This record gives sequence, structure tokens and C-alpha cells, in this order.
Amino acid sequence: MASVATVLRRKLSHKPFHFQLLTVRAFSASEPQRIEKILIANRGEIACRIMRTAKRLGIQTVAVYSDADRHSLHVKSADEAVHIGPPPARLSYLKASSIIDAAIRTGAQAIHPGYGFLSESAEFAQLCEDKGLTFIGPPASAIRDMGDKSASKRIMGAAGVPLVPGYHGKDQDIDLMKLEADKIGYPILIKPTHGGGGKGMRIVQSPDEFVESFLGAQREAAASFGVSTILLEKYITQPRHIEVQIFGDKHGKVLHLYERDCSVQRRHQKIIEEAPAPNVSNDFRTHLGQAAVSAAKAVGYHNAGTVEFIVDTVSGQFYFMEMNTRLQVEHPVTEMIVGQDLVEWQIRVASGEHLPISQSQVPLSGHAFEARIYAENVPKGFLPATGVLHHYHHVPVSPQVRVETGVEQGDTVSMHYDPMIAKLVVWGENRAAALVKLKDCLSKFQVAGLPTNINFLLKLANHRAFQNGDVETHFIEHFKDDLFVDTSNSLLVDKVLGAARFSATLAAACLIEKENSLFRENLPGGDSIISIWYSSPPFRVHHCARHTVELEWDNEYDSSGSKSLKLSTTYKPDGSYLVETEEESFPGLEVKVTCIGNHDFRVEADGVNMDVSLAVYSKDQTKHIHIWYGSHHHHFRQKTDLELSDEDETEHKPRFDKSSYPQGTVAAPMAGLVVKVVVKDGTKVEEGQPILVLEAMKMEHVVKAPSAGYVRGLHLAAGQQVSDGGILFSIKEE
Ligand code: ADP
Repeated sequence: MASVATVLRRKLSHKPFHFQLLTVRAFSASEPQRIEKILIANRGEIACRIMRTAKRLGIQTVAVYSDADRHSLHVKSADEAVHIGPPPARLSYLKASSIIDAAIRTGAQAIHPGYGFLSESAEFAQLCEDKGLTFIGPPASAIRDMGDKSASKRIMGAAGVPLVPGYHGKDQDIDLMKLEADKIGYPILIKPTHGGGGKGMRIVQSPDEFVESFLGAQREAAASFGVSTILLEKYITQPRHIEVQIFGDKHGKVLHLYERDCSVQRRHQKIIEEAPAPNVSNDFRTHLGQAAVSAAKAVGYHNAGTVEFIVDTVSGQFYFMEMNTRLQVEHPVTEMIVGQDLVEWQIRVASGEHLPISQSQVPLSGHAFEARIYAENVPKGFLPATGVLHHYHHVPVSPQVRVETGVEQGDTVSMHYDPMIAKLVVWGENRAAALVKLKDCLSKFQVAGLPTNINFLLKLANHRAFQNGDVETHFIEHFKDDLFVDTSNSLLVDKVLGAARFSATLAAACLIEKENSLFRENLPGGDSIISIWYSSPPFRVHHCARHTVELEWDNEYDSSGSKSLKLSTTYKPDGSYLVETEEESFPGLEVKVTCIGNHDFRVEADGVNMDVSLAVYSKDQTKHIHIWYGSHHHHFRQKTDLELSDEDETEHKPRFDKSSYPQGTVAAPMAGLVVKVVVKDGTKVEEGQPILVLEAMKMEHVVKAPSAGYVRGLHLAAGQQVSDGGILFSIKEE
């Protein structure tokens, strides 16, 4: 067991922890029930993450998988894997009976639910216990208590945990609730009591909007969650989202592991989290931690949990928001600052062991960030994206850098599940040091084949307000002019264009050098050829030839369409390339290239030497070229007459060129499932009226009429799938 002195020394040491060293044999149990095999009722990165700890503890692992995941990393990483059904989650990962059967068949003694899916189902937790399986999570009663936002607020209020002023009563009479709203004072927030993911919440600015919003929220809550009850809260205009990691054992001990700030969100979902929260006093930290422990004790909690608070940045007050009765996505930032493995704690506590340390022994060292890397279309309002990971390469992991992922190069991000590709987690001895590392690792995180939010995360991390720790939940909205290139700002547009031209120049030179080096490798004669290669001037296949390539480039923040760059590359006697564009404002550039790996080059341009990476693949009958160097990443397309390889996943799919659609045609903004068709074909609609609802990767998207008119050609029904860019219907004026 780590002695108090060791822990305290670590507290002061400013070194990242290796949690293996700290926690092994630190637990003790009166009658521990040995867990030797765990079934992980989840997929993706969290399933892989849980298996890593289980393996370290010598515990065998069982994966479950749907048809869509047959070849996934989590299946390959497990000792055994059981097929549980077709891709839709409700028929596989949410099907409690199939999962329990799989555990019984394979002789697993315990089930770890991960996050999402069945992790917060009280019925599932109960079913596990009824079948004699240990549920690695809290008691079913605590999940039930916390699943209802009104009930949980009543319990927390009674336990003395501060609540946002509001009404959480069972009586849902509209006149009574209107009176309560007046008492609270506007603006107020209406929330479904059984909601999640920010769905169905409405802000009401003034009393005359109340009735309409109230009725709308009730309808939406009934449709989405099957329960129409709602609650009222004072709407905090400039809030921070700060949550506390708590942990309890089965012997009544509960402690907290400090807080995480998760204020930076898009679509009410977190994208960058950090621990500890920046710009808070020690006093505040202590009070927040104590409130979280009281909250957990009030519901007899054990295992890992998170108590979420909303912090009013104007008054400095914090209020209980909700408790998440599971391990959170962002738990690694806590692990990095306290040097503990929370999955190990979960397993040991579930087996009946005591928590290994007391509150005063919980260390706090340095600072950690997590950035969630998603397959998504940032300019399209962060809509989830699908596709093949043609190229996937990230920085090497170390005690200070973790990459939690569930995919490999060549895998497909499908529309069935969450579009998260990876979590990048970094540690530094203070916030500034951690931020430097975050930016470096993000700029070296290479994903090609589908759109991602990496460039956007880099912009966030570079923003001055983020650097200062001035975060709040409206951060992205607030700074949208800085985070999305404003096309009216010609200086900025020029800068972006300049960077793209420079990247295209480097890419053109690297592409030709790569061809040359491949040619050299394939020449017969082996070593003898080396002498020609290193002769002066060195031999090159394209000697004297002038190569012209035309690269197309989408400025992702400019809707005015793609730009075309014509580049001519001439080989020079000194071994360098002269790359020129047609534009007079951009003089030719001399570039020297050395291939140093399959995708990697050392390039000298404009007097600067730098590492450059290139990924090239075919998709949609087009060659795609990605280039990374410094903090830049650009993506170009090159029209090609080349035969497509068998690997081109889009070869047999219809291609959608939206510019050729007749006016009024509405195309699917993402691949997805039709969950609801709101109006019939032929209906007269107003501009902005909802026509149908698409769902992909846990996200719903309402497709609305782009103009007033009649709906034509709408032949879709709930349950049908649509592809990205596929025609949904059109709006005709007649
Ligand atoms: P859900 O369970 O649907 O995610 P939450 O209650 O956790 O709903 O709230 C989601 C988000 O909405 C929070 O992270 C916060 O940004 C915002 N929010 C919640 N309550 C308030 C409030 N009273 N005032 C302002 N914003 C709020």
C-alpha cells in the first residue's frame, strides 16, 4: 500500500503518475469476491480502455459485438468475443437479454457497462444482480434516483446540496407552473425530467412566451422520453460546467477526486475537458468536492460517479445539475492528475474491496486536457460524418500522452454509433505546459478519409480566451468569428489562401519525389543504382521534365466553393524542385525533398527545414492528397483518369454532385436513418417547417423546408436509410 508519505511526496513532485505503481495491492477487502473474467457490454475506445486495465490485473475479457463491429479493435483486443445481433444498438448493445446470455455462456462473473448504452439502466443493473453477475457500477437504486431530474433535485435539496432556484414538483398544472416561473424570475429554462443530451430544453425569455414553450416542451418530452413531466430552473446566462469525480465503496466510504471543467461544448456535448478547473480558488474546490460527496452519500452511492454542477460566472455560485451514475468519457483527465486507474478502482470496489486511500491522501498533480476527436463536418454545424479511415496516425503515447481509440487505419466510421475517433489526453506540470503539449499533439494527429474536428480543436486551443482559462458554455458561439473564418474579413481569407498555396507547393514536390523514389526502388540492379542516385547532379526520372498538377481545395470555412490551383514543377540540376503557380502574386518556390518514410518527408523550402507527412488515397473517382507540417493540415483533390483500385469504397455507390440538382431539391446533409416523416408528399409547407427527422450516431437532425411551397417526391418512411447527399424531396412553388 502506498504510504501517506509516498502519496504526499508525489503530491509535490510534479511528475506524471504511473498508476500501476500506486494502486497495486493498495485495496483491502473483508471478503473480496474474486473477479476473473469480465464481459464488457460496450464497444469502441471505452471497451478497449477497460480491457487494458483488466489485462493488467490478470482478468480475462469478453467482448460483445454487432454485425457492424465484427472486425473492430475491441473484438480483436478481447480474449473471447460473442456476437449479439445486427448493427442497430437497440438490437445489439442495448439488448440486455443477449448480453446477459453472453456473460453466462462464457462464464464471466461481472459485467462492465462502459458509458452510454446500458450503463445508466437501473433495470439492467438489477437484472445482472438477479442473475448472479456483478454489475461494475452503482446500485440500481442510485441509478433510479438519479435518472429522474426532479426526484434527484428533491433528494439533493434535502441533503443540503445547493440547487439552481427552480420548481421540481410533481404537480404539473400549467397555471401553478406559470406562477412558479414568475417567482423564479425570467429568463427560465424548461427541462424534461427524464431528458438527456440537452434534448427538449427550452429557454423562456419572458412571461408571454411561457405557455407556448411549456406545451411544446411537454409534447417533445413525451415523444422523446415517453414521460411528459418537466421542471423549471432559473436560466444562468453565463455558466461554466464543472463536474466532480466521486468514488464510493460498498462499505459506506465516499471520496472525491477533484473536478473537471467541461464548459467547451458544441450541441450541448463536450469537446475539450480539463482537470483541475482553471481559475478557481482552493476554497471553491474544497466546497465543490464536499457538496459532491454529500450528493453521493444521499443516494447510498458506490463505484464511480460524476456530480455535475453549473457555476454562475457572475455570482460565483455553484449549483447541482445532475449526477451521472457511470464512468464518464472524460475520466482520463482525472486519472492523469491523481495518478489512479479508475477502471481498476471500479473493478476492485465492485468485488467488495475498500477504497485504497482516504480523502486527504488523494494527490493532485499538474494539469490535464482531453480533446475529443470526432468524425464530423464542422462547417455543416458539426454534423456527424461517416467514411473510411484511409490514413490514421498519431503521436506516440507516453505517461504524459494517452490516445484512447477504438479504431485502426482502414476501419469504417459507420452511421450506427458515436462518431468519436479518439480521445487525446495530455498531462503537463501546469496548465500552460499541458496546453503546449495539447496543441503539438493535435497538430500531429493525422486522420484522412473523412472530415474531422481536429483543425477546429486546434483553433479552440489557440484561442486567447481559452489560453487564459476564460471558459463558459457559450464559448464557441461567443467566439464564432474567430473560430470560423469570417469570409468578410479579406485579410484572414488571404492568410488562409496563402497557407493553402504553400501547402499545395510542398505537396506537389513531395508527390513527384515519392514517384521518383519508388521508381528507384523498382529499378533492377540493386545497390549499383545507388551510385547514380547520389551522383552530382543526382539522377531523377523526371529530369528536365516539367510536371503540371491541378489541385482542388475546399476552404472549409468558405461556402463560395472550391479553389483550383495549377502547379508546375520543374526538376533543377541541384536536386531541388522549382514549383510555380499561375498567380503572379505567388512567386515560384524552390523545394528540396528527401523521403524519410512511407508517408514522411524532410523538406527545405524558403530557407526552412521541416517534417512533412503526406497521405494519398482514391475516393469518388478522385485522388485525395492530405499534407501535414507544423500546425498545418490541408486536403486537396486531384482529378484523375486512373483506374480505381478495388479498395475504393465508393466505387459502386451513386455519386452526388449537389450543384447539378434542380432548384428546390433537398439532399440529405448526412448519412442516416429516417426516424420520422412529419408531413405527407404534396403537403403545402412554410419555409423552415420540419419535413422529416434523420438520425445518425445518436444525433437527430430535423430536415426543414428551405422555402415555402409544396413537398414533392417525398417517398421515404421511418426506418429507411439515406446516404449523405442523397435526394430526400423537393419543394415546388406551384
Ligand atoms: P442533459 O441531461 O439533457 O444533458 P443537463 O441538465 O445536464 O441536461 O444540461 C445540459 C446543459 O445545459 C448543461 O451542460 C448546461 O450547459 C446547460 N444548462 C443546464 N441547466 C442550465 C441552467 N439552469 N442555466 C443555463 N444553462 C443550463
